[in-house]
Amino acid sequence: MLPRIFRVLCLWLTTLCVASGEPFELRGYYITFMRMPVMGLPEWKRAVDCFAEDDVNTLILWMPGGFRSRKFPVTWRYNEEHANVRQDFARELIDYAHARKIRVLLGFTPFGYDGINQFPLEQPELKAKKADGSPVDKFGIHCWGWSLCPAQPESQRLMREYLREMIVDFYPNADGLLIESSDYNVCQCSQCGPRHYDHEFGLVRWVSDEMWKVNPKATVLVYPHYFTGKKIPGFDVHGAKQPFDPRWGLFFTPHSAHFDADLIRRAQTSVFSGPEAVLGSPQDVAKSAQSARQHGVRGFLPSFEAFSYIPTHTEGGEKFIVGKRKRPFGLDAEREGKMPFDGLIPRVQRSAVREFSKDPDLPFAEFEKRLQKQVFGPGDSMQNIRDLLAMQQMWTQDANWYWSSPLLEPELFRVHAQRQNWPADKLKRYDQRLVQLREISQRYATATHPAELEMSRLAREVMERWRDRLPSEFAAKGQR
Ligand SMILES: [Zn+2]
Repeated sequence: MLPRIFRVLCLWLTTLCVASGEPFELRGYYITFMRMPVMGLPEWKRAVDCFAEDDVNTLILWMPGGFRSRKFPVTWRYNEEHANVRQDFARELIDYAHARKIRVLLGFTPFGYDGINQFPLEQPELKAKKADGSPVDKFGIHCWGWSLCPAQPESQRLMREYLREMIVDFYPNADGLLIESSDYNVCQCSQCGPRHYDHEFGLVRWVSDEMWKVNPKATVLVYPHYFTGKKIPGFDVHGAKQPFDPRWGLFFTPHSAHFDADLIRRAQTSVFSGPEAVLGSPQDVAKSAQSARQHGVRGFLPSFEAFSYIPTHTEGGEKFIVGKRKRPFGLDAEREGKMPFDGLIPRVQRSAVREFSKDPDLPFAEFEKRLQKQVFGPGDSMQNIRDLLAMQQMWTQDANWYWSSPLLEPELFRVHAQRQNWPADKLKRYDQRLVQLREISQRYATATHPAELEMSRLAREVMERWRDRLPSEFAAKGQR
């Protein structure tokens, strides 16, 4: 009996030490569930298995527009092809995540973005206003509509009923919320003006209490905008100065919510979330984790969004993409990219998130060794890992939220290079990338390791799309 107790005690002590030594208590990903229509429950379960391999404990799933509201069908009509709108499974998915020791927070934006910006289709008088009193322009990513004016009682009622449905009727097993303040179209009507965030705060306070009624241990992440009174990044308005409830956690982003040392000290927890896992390199993931750590933030939840919707509007300034299904991480969303997170390229960034979440100062050479071991097994030469890291950089070269690198899509490359009049040296760099891909495809054409063969296949597939044309020639030939 005694040795067993001793073993349990040792295990407990080890767990305690490891837990207290970890730089981030919340580790995981931010995912826009509603913009990934093709994934059904089996694919999502496999995604959660991937995230469990990454040793994460928190997943943000941004939900509005992605579930079949009974009260407000207008919120999901634009998204009827979404697997969860057709067959509600997210509750089961949350249970599955729990079994893998991952907590799930439901994300939404008060008065804006997907699902919610559809309300003005039926009630146009709710649209937020510009300073001149006219309604704001239509905008969106996937879901196009209008932000709501938070000062109108009807906007507050719709938000509250919709959110109550999400939290109480649909997903009462969720572990909390991310309340993500909008980064566009702040209402400037005569009632809102400098008090926009006070009106928004009314909803934030209410929904937090609703969440804590359902689950007193819920994590509720909010933006700093309601408490600091400081200028809001990207807008010519100041935040509110409302009382801060220390049960809240704070959410910081590089583009719209900057670190605030005083609030970080007072909050239950705090999180940093940036775009680098999708748009950057492993080095960028490391830098972001270091920055979070230096500012005393206790969670690192980078975006890992993998869009698979079909755009209905010009997005990212590019008409070319309208009507063409997005390619998550450059993969075909209807084939190998249906569950994109175990693709070879995204695995690089998953590994970066895993390793730098545990040690933001991990030397890069050590990261390369660990990545090599995870992907290829131990090896004497670092050639394969250098090639894989080069490919990861190629996949994100000139990428943005709307597309992976134009290197992967010659037609997009052509219209883009022409319109922006890309200089010769930039076109030349694309030529060099393609030459490098040819070398990689040949180097591993007869490899025995499946990951090396996959590198060869991915490289070859891109080569074939260019059909022996160099990017610089292709761009020039297409000139009208
Ligand atoms: Zn207003």
